[in-house]
Formats: sequence, structure tokens, C-alpha cells
Amino acid sequence: TPQKASNFLEQIIIDDLESGRVSKVITRFPPEPNGYLHIGHAKSICINFGLAEKFGGECNLRFDDTNPTKEEQEYVDAIIRDVEWLGFKWAKLCFASDYFEQFYEWAIELIKAGKAYVDHQSPEEIRRTRGTLTEPGIESPYRNRSVEENLILFEKMRRGEFEEGECVLRAKIDMAHPNLNMRDPVMYRILKKSHHRTKDKWCIYPMYDFAHGYEDAIEGVTHSICTLEFQDHRPLYDWFLDNVSVPHRPRQYEFARLNLSYTVMSKRKLLELVEKGYVSGWDDPRMPTISGLRRRGFTPSSIRRFCEEIGVSKTNSLVDIEFLYHCIRDELNKTTDRVMAVLNPLKVVIENYPDDLVEEIDALNNPEDPNSEWRKVPFCKELYIEKDDFMEDPPKKYFRLAPGREVRLKHAYFITCKEVIKDENGEIVELRCTYDPESRGGESPDGRKVKGTIHWVSAKHAVKAEVRLYDNLFTLRNMDEMEEGKDYKDYLNPNSLKVIKDALIEPTLKDLKPLQRFQFLRHGYFCVDYDSTPEHIVFNRIVPLKDSWAK
Ligand code: ATP
Ligand code: MG
Ligand code: MG
Repeated sequence: TPQKASNFLEQIIIDDLESGRVSKVITRFPPEPNGYLHIGHAKSICINFGLAEKFGGECNLRFDDTNPTKEEQEYVDAIIRDVEWLGFKWAKLCFASDYFEQFYEWAIELIKAGKAYVDHQSPEEIRRTRGTLTEPGIESPYRNRSVEENLILFEKMRRGEFEEGECVLRAKIDMAHPNLNMRDPVMYRILKKSHHRTKDKWCIYPMYDFAHGYEDAIEGVTHSICTLEFQDHRPLYDWFLDNVSVPHRPRQYEFARLNLSYTVMSKRKLLELVEKGYVSGWDDPRMPTISGLRRRGFTPSSIRRFCEEIGVSKTNSLVDIEFLYHCIRDELNKTTDRVMAVLNPLKVVIENYPDDLVEEIDALNNPEDPNSEWRKVPFCKELYIEKDDFMEDPPKKYFRLAPGREVRLKHAYFITCKEVIKDENGEIVELRCTYDPESRGGESPDGRKVKGTIHWVSAKHAVKAEVRLYDNLFTLRNMDEMEEGKDYKDYLNPNSLKVIKDALIEPTLKDLKPLQRFQFLRHGYFCVDYDSTPEHIVFNRIVPLKDSWAK
């Protein structure tokens, strides 16, 4: 049955399946293990795995591990963890480094065909002689070496007989080609570095453009999907595939990468933030990494929904980070239990409440969930409310607590403020209130209305917790619009993390486990941090309640 395309990539695949060019769709997600995955990678993961799933094909997780200088096993492990956590299953787990011998053979094939040569120019000379968009490049003096000489020299390169930078292998294409990528690009360079998998077996390493299409060909990839920056590299991708005998002929397609407001996504920058201690690690909850979002409290489904809804296009744009927040908020609204937490406590003493009485107040866990259960929250004479929920001299529209005013304590009683107690500095330290015993459950039998409802915790029973509030990591909406002469770090948000040491949580939360999520009434969605212990509970705010994302 013909399927309907929901983006241009799906249309390409439908056409390929219908025309018979392709019988089974094979895609791949090809990260370089030189950093942790970020939300932009999530988009690519959702596209590649999503297309394979939709069209009954397969998607490989392939490590593009061709550069030993920046790659590490730690990153391989983290990437595997993140893709699994997002909920995707790869057909094969592949490593480009497993294909090094085959790449070498194809390089020999190109040399034998007179289509590759060993160049002894320095990297600077090669760059300088490449020409510009308006000027053709200058041919290397080594360009017309014989096939025999090239074979011997390339073999010597492999054996380690040259130093780093002494020579490279270049494709012999066209130094006057209008596309600069086609001006005799480098295929191999010498790197006397140990590789995290092949160790010291190789000292020549293939360049991305040379290797990538071959990786796709070896795995039988049908649709090799990458970001728009590689559009100009496609002729080269094709050239390498067309000039040796490959087992399959993949094709490259490009889509617009994800850019997100108030953050950066280059791995180089994210690594610098980690290494220089601007954040606590790759999984700092402020980072746009998958591991950071996980620790912050995002769910795999919220990230997948985000990727689905932003769609796939061929024009670069900036996605509002508020939309990402919207996706998790919308989900957690339906799924999380509500609890009361006071972040900035102010003591309330209910003067007419019996000294030693403790009542168990019934509270519905999640009014959005028809199957929600009830819990019992202890209530007694001394409570804490939020400092912000009291004003000594309130404006007219303030409906919370003030001298002489009555409010509803959520799930419990109406209270009226009778007296304000201050310390020697004039700071309000306590409120003396009375309660209406008839209003238990939050309604008064006489039908008396109160406008404000505030949350509270029992002073005797509340549990102390550290609460970490996060804001955007950067202050500039579009990090591509930095002022001249500025560095991206100049835009770091000094208020991206606010730590509250002595928040008070209702005592109904038991056996807290990292990543357990709640709604703190009127505050937002929170999750238990990895640092949390039974003795020292730590919560992360995932997102505040207020949705400032406008459709
Ligand atoms: P960076 O520029 O941050 O180093 P990269 O593109 O070099 O990223 P890779 O590990 O090579 O990182 O990326 C793996 C795949 O993820 C590639 O196919 C790449 O196109 C895709 N990808 C990377 N960043 C984004 C993004 N912001 N949006 C969508 N896809 C992305
Ligand atoms: Mg890359
Ligand atoms: Mg990169």
C-alpha cells in the first residue's frame, strides 16, 4: 500500500521504493565519538531510525571513528547509552574503523587508476594553493607522479616511514573545479596516534569525505542522510563512489540541522564548557546534551515528540527552546503526581488549632489522571507557606495572604492572618493565623468565598531538600548573532543555576529514586537528581509551570 509522505525525505523514499531503485531502506546514524550527543543529534536519530521504521527498513548505529586525535571510548559508551535511552534499536552496531583495510584497498584502486597521488606539500601549502571561488587552484608539483611511485610512497606512508605532516594522499580530480571540495581533496593524512579501537595498527587515517560514502556502501545504506553543510560535498561523495568498484551505491540527502535558541550545539564548544568548568559535566542539566536533558528530567518521549513536531526541511531556522520546554511540560502535566513543596519558607502558627493534633488531609495526586490515587498529607498547628504568598501591604489585586485576609490552604482549611511577627531587623519571621474548622477540605459550609489558594507543608513533618532551578545557559537568543569580537562564552547566563538549600517538601515522598518526577504545586515540574541521597535530597527543576511558548 502506498504511504503518504510527511516530509521531502519520505517522498524521496516512497519514490525510490515505487520505482524499484531501492527494495529495502537502510539508513544509519553516524556520530563521531568525539563528544556526547546533543538535541541536534536527537533530530538526526529520530529521522534516520524513524524512516527505517516507517518503511520497514533498518537503521545502523555507526561510529564514524576515523580521527584518533579527538575520539575516545567514553564517548562511544555515552552515545550507545543515549541512543538506547531514546528508545531506538539499531540493526547493526558498526565502526568505520572496522573498514580501514577496505578503505586502503580502494585508495590503492584509485592510485592504480591514476586518480590519487602522494603529495609532499605541507598542509599550509595545500591550503594556500587551493584557490578561491574566483581563482582556480594551483596544481601540486607532485601531481603527475607515476602510478608506481605513488604505490610505493603510499605503502611507505602506511608503514610509518614518514612523519606527520610530511605527505598526504590526495584525489586527482580538478584544481580548477568550481566546487572547492573537488580540488584534489586530501584522502589520507599521517597521524601517529593510537586509535581507541585499532590501537597502533594504523598511522594513516582517512578523511571524512573519502571514507563516509564507502562506509555507507559497505553497509548497504540506501539513503545517507546528513545536514545541509554537506550539500557542497555531495559531488565528492559521488566521485569517490563512482571511481572504485563498490558493493552498493548509496545516495546522500541533506536536511536542515536543528538550531535551538539560547544554546550552542557545536561539540567543540560543549567540550570547552565541560573542560573549563563552566558546567559540571556533559550531563549538567543546563547542557543541550541528551545526557543533560535526561538528568534535568526530560523523558525520551518528550524529546521524540519535539523532534517529530519540528519536522524536517531544507532551510535552516532557529527553533525556540520554549517549544522543547512545552513538549516536556505538556507530557508531565498528564503523568506526574502533584506534591506540595515550599521553596522559600515562612512560618505560620494557627493559634486556635489544638497543640498536639495531627490530621491526615486527603489530597488527590493528579487531577489530570482519571485513575489517580489519593494520599494523606499531615496537617498541624505549625506550617510553612511560601514567603511570596504573604504581603504586609498588598495591592488590590493580590489575593493571597495579608493581614486580616483569608486564604485557602490547598486540600485543607481556610486561614486568616491575625498578626505579623518580625525580628529585630524588621524581617517577617512568622504569621499568627486562625483557621475555620468548618472549612476542612477547602470549602466553607456557609458558602463564603476566598479568592486565593496557597500550598503549605507541616513544620513538624516536612522534609528538607536542596532544589536546583535552571535557566537558559546563554543570554543571546540566536547564538549565530554574536557581536563582532565577542566569544560565545561572553554570553553565558550568570543566573543559569540557582540553588535553594532549604526547601521543604511534604513528607509523602518515599524511597526517592533518581529521575523520579513530580509537579511541585504552583512551581513546576521537578525530578530527583543523581546527587540525591536519603539524607540529602536534591531536586532539579525540569521546567516551571508557566508555558511561554506561543504557537
Ligand atoms: P558538531 O558540529 O557538533 O561536532 P557533527 O555534525 O560533527 O557535530 P557528528 O557526530 O558527526 O557531529 O554527527 C552525527 C550526525 O548527527 C551527523 O549525521 C550530523 O549531520 C547530525 N547532526 C549533528 N548536529 C546536528 C544538528 N544540530 N541537527 C541535526 N543533525 C545534526
Ligand atoms: Mg561530523
Ligand atoms: Mg564535528
